[in-house]
Amino acid sequence: MVAGLDEKLEPIYQEVLHRNPGETEFHQAVREVLETLGPVLVKYPELADRKIIQLCCEPERQIIFRVPWQDDKGQTHINRAFRVEFNSALGPYKGGMRFHPSVYLGIIKFLGFEQIFKNALTGMPIGGGKGGSDFDPKGRSDAEIMRFCQSMMTELYRHLGEYTDVPAGDIGVGQREIGYLFGQYKRITNRYESGVFTGKGLDWGGSRARKEATGFGTVFFTNEMLKVRSDSLDGKTCVVSGSGNVAIYAMEKAMELGAKVVACSDSNGVIVDKEGIDLDLVKQIKEVERRRINAYVQEKKSARYLEDGNIWEVPCHVALPCATQNELNGHDAKALVKNGCIVVAEGANMPCTPEAVRIFSDAGIAFGPGKAANAGGVATSALEMQQNASRDSWTFEHTEERLREIMVDIHRNCYETADEFGAPGNYVTGANITGFLKVGRAMMAMGVV
Ligand code: NAP
Repeated sequence: MVAGLDEKLEPIYQEVLHRNPGETEFHQAVREVLETLGPVLVKYPELADRKIIQLCCEPERQIIFRVPWQDDKGQTHINRAFRVEFNSALGPYKGGMRFHPSVYLGIIKFLGFEQIFKNALTGMPIGGGKGGSDFDPKGRSDAEIMRFCQSMMTELYRHLGEYTDVPAGDIGVGQREIGYLFGQYKRITNRYESGVFTGKGLDWGGSRARKEATGFGTVFFTNEMLKVRSDSLDGKTCVVSGSGNVAIYAMEKAMELGAKVVACSDSNGVIVDKEGIDLDLVKQIKEVERRRINAYVQEKKSARYLEDGNIWEVPCHVALPCATQNELNGHDAKALVKNGCIVVAEGANMPCTPEAVRIFSDAGIAFGPGKAANAGGVATSALEMQQNASRDSWTFEHTEERLREIMVDIHRNCYETADEFGAPGNYVTGANITGFLKVGRAMMAMGVV
């Protein structure tokens, strides 16, 4: 069943449906936020009078362009790329670039919309944006990836700037791609503008702990949710979907805090290792050799590979969806509840469907939404910008400690706001309202712009 919307909010949602036809992920992300904002408009009617919610639903600027490039055989390909500059009330647009064949405007808008509130939650001076392309990097050579990135940046550069719009990585975009994009930006603009991109390599302006930050942050947040329940990760069985950047470092920190991670995945299948996932092996397969996760079982006899398997049917106390949107549905949520799961935190963006979230809530499972739980990545990007601005480079320990403090603060703010607005323990409500109020107040202060 779909929860009803407040009578002031229903017309806003209908208008979003009408103005953005076919963008189902964007609709889903907007609805999830609107469902929690009713009490805010009662307490702060001036936000309704100034149409702050409607403004948040309409990007400040949307850029769509073609990216022509040639493969190693000289064949021409044409991809489509996007940059949605959603909201700059708190700082320059900030959000990653995604390369995946499923990318279209609706995906980039859902991600950009979420990013507004996530970035506000970090307490850092960053606005919300997102970008990407329907380019599929799988199976492409380094030279092809480079040519694609250079062609993309040949258009994108004019929209970027350290005070304007600062992209980073996301699905299919890691340090290699950021290097090619940054290199072309530097060449075209003739400026070594470190702060225009985050997720850079350590030798050329990157921050220590940025690579680890999203996964580590998700686990710090999970640990705080457990602490509230007088519990901890120590001795817990954990399942982490995906085996990319977020998943790998979520597994690493969960293990460090005493959990046993027994399963991870990629888009082809799931590996289950009853002895606990061997993370060095996963890193070798994914980060170094760029192979499929099924290579794991050739090395580890204790592991099973489930082609097209469902990772959420693996019994666990802690579930961390770290792959992609809508990867955990109502059926999966029921399986997790049945098998004794006590906490779910979203390392990915919107991986749980609305039905799954309702099932967790009804079952009393602690649920950390991506806006809050995976905000450590963008928060550490803002720390990278700080280091670039001051021509400084912090130690890993210092950067990780700043990240941990930020995640503890985000958790506390969400928890207290949920309480204040009559939804104790509901981190979805807490995250949406905290983020919305911060950005909404800034928008009010700046007038109708
Ligand atoms: P990544 O390094 O490219 O890894 C993505 C992982 O998810 C891969 O294992 C991939 O498997 C799997 N995956 C992708 N699409 C899938 C699909 N349709 N079905 C099943 N599995 C799929 O990307 P990432 O940076 O870890 O991002 C993962 C999630 O975290 C995304 O939702 C992203 O928006 C979110 N996030 C990332 C950051 C960040 O700092 N990177 C920050 C905040 C949130 P294949 O290799 O088989 O495709």
